[in-house]
Amino acid sequence: MAHVKLHIPGPVEVSEKTLRAFASPMIGHRGQGFKDLYGKIQPQLQSLLYTKQLVYLSTSSAWGVMEGAIRNLVHKKVLCCMCGAFSDKWLDVAQRCGKSAEGLQVEWGSPIRAEQVEAKLATGEFDALTLIHNETSTGVMSPLAQIAALKQKFPDVMFIVDAVSSMTATKIDFDALQIDVLLAGTQKAFALPPGLTVFACSPAALSKAAKTKDRGYYFDFVEFQKNAEGHMTPSTPSIGHIYALSSKLDDIFAEGLDARFARHRKLAQMTRDWAARHGFNFFPEKDYESVTLTCVSNGARPGGRSVDVAKLQKLVKDQGFLIDGGYGKIKGTTFRISNMGDETEESMNRLYAALDKAMGQL
Ligand SMILES: *Cc1c(COP(=O)(O)O)cnc(C)c1O
Repeated sequence: MAHVKLHIPGPVEVSEKTLRAFASPMIGHRGQGFKDLYGKIQPQLQSLLYTKQLVYLSTSSAWGVMEGAIRNLVHKKVLCCMCGAFSDKWLDVAQRCGKSAEGLQVEWGSPIRAEQVEAKLATGEFDALTLIHNETSTGVMSPLAQIAALKQKFPDVMFIVDAVSSMTATKIDFDALQIDVLLAGTQKAFALPPGLTVFACSPAALSKAAKTKDRGYYFDFVEFQKNAEGHMTPSTPSIGHIYALSSKLDDIFAEGLDARFARHRKLAQMTRDWAARHGFNFFPEKDYESVTLTCVSNGARPGGRSVDVAKLQKLVKDQGFLIDGGYGKIKGTTFRISNMGDETEESMNRLYAALDKAMGQL
């Protein structure tokens, strides 16, 4: 069967080169070969995250570490900043972990704003917060630097940040932001297969985790640190993913971080230009649009065009491309187009040509 190229916001298309690295012959995870592999990528990961902390590798999708952060770091009560499907779900996950949790809910399409977070933290009730930098369901990017600046005022609050669909696509300076946990699954902007999560913890997060009872084993942050010091992981990792990550990190540094960030900004703008040319509005509030995907309004916002999304998807799929028909409660009233990972102006132009053709057939 012919492969349909992925332009959904995760998993995204994986290159032949990455797939070849993923299929490398197996090695033992306690042997020198593995330590050399992790030892080679550790400084690359530290450069990518702008951190001196060790960067950990978890064989799980992002939710494993998102839940792990709750289990390791919440003693009192966690504030869950909610602005879309993934961030809304984090409240539910915290409650399922038996933690006291409260939501800071804003309308889907809006970002989380620092003033709103500050007002909540000022109550003194919270010792942790969860924030999704780039809410993939709505295509909204929240102002991370402004929110992270609150850490100065609330040093005892653990700032847990999901950068699943923004890590590698835009600069996130872990040390300068002084946040406590930063994590990303690899099937989004890394353009690797799903099943691995990359994350880092602040020294404060590690010492708090060490004092946390019932933090379990598989996602115990203290275990990750102890093992990473010897270039290892707590349990047997998906070694294929780590070969693929090594190959991808070489690609990322060959391109250069700034060039990679600029490419993502440019391609997101090109997608917005395509949608505007066809008379569509956008779902995200202006100036908070993601750099990795575009969430097009298809009737969710007043004015602007709306089309039969299922039909559009089918017409595009027949030409070899998969786009997303909207997530959760905005399915059908929005659709999403990803430009994250390995995409280029050329590859995006091929997609827009297919979309143009499909629009003509609606
Ligand atoms: C995809 C996504 C997740 C969930 O990742 P899983 O790989 O399904 O665990 C979480 N947060 C964001 C922002 C995402 O885009």
